[in-house]
Amino acid sequence: MDYRGRFAPSPTGRLHFGSLVAALASWLCARQAGGQWLLRMEDLDPPREVAGAASSILATLPAFGLVADEPVLFQSRRRAAYDAAFEQLRAAGHLFACTCSRTDLAATGGRHVDGRCVGTGSGRAPAWRLRAPDVDIDFHDALQGPQRQNLRQQVGDFVIRRADGIYSYQLGCVVDDAFQQVTEVVRGHDLLDSTPRQIWLQRCLGLPTPTYRHLPLVLDEHGHKLSKSAQALPVDATDPLPALRCVAQFLALPWRDGVADVHAALAALLAQVQPDRLPRHNRRWTAKSP
Ligand code: GLU
Repeated sequence: MDYRGRFAPSPTGRLHFGSLVAALASWLCARQAGGQWLLRMEDLDPPREVAGAASSILATLPAFGLVADEPVLFQSRRRAAYDAAFEQLRAAGHLFACTCSRTDLAATGGRHVDGRCVGTGSGRAPAWRLRAPDVDIDFHDALQGPQRQNLRQQVGDFVIRRADGIYSYQLGCVVDDAFQQVTEVVRGHDLLDSTPRQIWLQRCLGLPTPTYRHLPLVLDEHGHKLSKSAQALPVDATDPLPALRCVAQFLALPWRDGVADVHAALAALLAQVQPDRLPRHNRRWTAKSP
């Protein structure tokens, strides 16, 4: 099957340096493999959305020469697909309704006993959780190496649909990676921990598992992840080359000074990139780096 990669931002802020790392690396991996690069706007959680962020992200990417091969998939328009996946999981007995409050869960160490809700909050709308199996999920990350997580012991029964009716990131991501026929997921290291949940969901729904390549995170001077919601400095779409140069340096890719524009810069990076040699470790990065 031909390579299909994707970039899947959430509209919680404008594109910043850390998200540009994931955008560029996923684009380079797709182009280097001669494949397709897709975009998905993960706007399935309106309360977390920042007004104008989605359109700003979608306007900024082309300024960096990053243009998707297919129309953008908006998760806000995918409710019917998530409803169908939810019904499939429920019919197969993977889900249970849960009215646990944080206090209830704290009393059981955050775990449910035998996939049953111990909630005392009767009367409130339930969240729906997926029973975490007591099995080790093993996978090989193309950059981070072999990974193993026991869902029952290390994660617990996880939310598929919140009490307010909003589907979880895990469900939307799995349904849409399959819908977009993604063959490799290239994204930040902070989602490495979500991958076993996604692999288990793929198994429950009978969907294929792509390969995974988790990139190092860009950390601020205090060692915290740069994140859109934490007001990380947005990248300047009117002057893309300096930011692109910084991202290339963060990814340990050689930069050719004097390139005419972003297209020439991307072509030069593409000629050099070796996806298996991208850096693995999270790194601090400041305006003055490297
Ligand atoms: N929407 C997620 C984010 O912006 C990324 C999801 C993914 O790449 O799987 O952090």
